[in-house]
Amino acid sequence: MTDSFKCEQVPYCALAEQYGTPVYIYSQQVMTDAFTQYQHAFSALQPLICYAVKANGNLSILRHFASLGSGFDIVSGGELQRVLLAGGDPAKTIFSGVGKSKAEIEFALTNNILCFNVESLPELERINTIAGKLGTHAPISLRINPNVDARTHPYISTGLKANKFGIAYAEALAAYQYAASLPNLNIIGLDCHIGSQLTDLSPLVEALERLLPLIDQLTALGFQLKHIDLGGGIGIVYHNESVPDLPAYASAVAKLLAGRNLKLMLEPGRSLIGNAGDLLTTVEYIKQGEEKNFVIVDAAMNDLMRPSLYQAYHGILNVSETTADEFVADVVGPICESGDFLAKDRTIAAKAGDLLLVQCAGAYASSMASNYNTRCRAAEVLVNGTEHRLIRPRENLSELLANEQSCLRTI
Ligand SMILES: *Cc1c(COP(=O)(O)O)cnc(C)c1O
Repeated sequence: MTDSFKCEQVPYCALAEQYGTPVYIYSQQVMTDAFTQYQHAFSALQPLICYAVKANGNLSILRHFASLGSGFDIVSGGELQRVLLAGGDPAKTIFSGVGKSKAEIEFALTNNILCFNVESLPELERINTIAGKLGTHAPISLRINPNVDARTHPYISTGLKANKFGIAYAEALAAYQYAASLPNLNIIGLDCHIGSQLTDLSPLVEALERLLPLIDQLTALGFQLKHIDLGGGIGIVYHNESVPDLPAYASAVAKLLAGRNLKLMLEPGRSLIGNAGDLLTTVEYIKQGEEKNFVIVDAAMNDLMRPSLYQAYHGILNVSETTADEFVADVVGPICESGDFLAKDRTIAAKAGDLLLVQCAGAYASSMASNYNTRCRAAEVLVNGTEHRLIRPRENLSELLANEQSCLRTI
């Protein structure tokens, strides 16, 4: 094996040896750089950057972002619990999502979060009722659907009329007026989030352009909004896509917001963590099928769902000093589904025992992992310079089965 392939200063082969595979490997430096790039690009606007926890909610990763001054965008009570355990600041935490339960709303209110991004009128009523019971006022913003096409994969596009997300643009004014009629709400902002893995800047700018006249109408009606939240969604390079330029985005936003006294909030997830992580896996077998070759590895769709779910591309790099010749193959896992693949029709040189790096697996990888086929979820390791440490141990079978075992009866 060679040690020329490294995460920061640590060879992948050493990490595989120590922690086993499959294992997610994260670079702390890449996270820091991604966060500071946002801060620099937007420095004129001093936004509150709220890392979207669902991209990767590992407690040590949240703690790192908190230490950089990040706030958090959460979509469940469970994610709020993660933020609190990691030492994140609830006063910098915003709660998004279409299905907030009563218990989640109460939990968030008692922890004094910064804002609820409300997605429907029934949700407004529910939050108002719970805030009333607790004798408080819930800070809210409305998530308005600007009806722009984010031009991304349909499963991760959220700003169109046909999506379940947000309040329709045409109903926005009425929704704000309704919110103002409810006694236990404190209306502080306006929010949108049009989709994920956006490769083009124009839909993001278009969304803001559509929202500004609405804000002006609200101001004329006496609403005093304190912030506008433009959501997340900036794409990253997985393969050869071009991605929005952050400074260009920032200057377009600054130009549009000039003269308005609105604090900017952003909710990036993927663009803060996606390129900071990789999934390290070992080749189990090379199988020559009748029509195709398969590189069968020990990671599977339960560790990285994106290829199966969105036909997403992840680069795959052999980080062993392999003696194999190149051939064309699908890289697949052990799961009993034809949809269980990490890559299709790749030219690759690999033999059994080689270590492969599935690249750009920091976001929506470990956070979407499942136990399908009774597979234990993989370990997670954080690398910082020459140092590395486990930030989530590999799950073991006794943990995985304990709950069910405790329910077993003899008949
Ligand atoms: C998922 C999500 C984000 C983060 O999206 P990225 O594409 O990872 O930046 C931000 N806001 C909301 C409301 C989300 O649902």
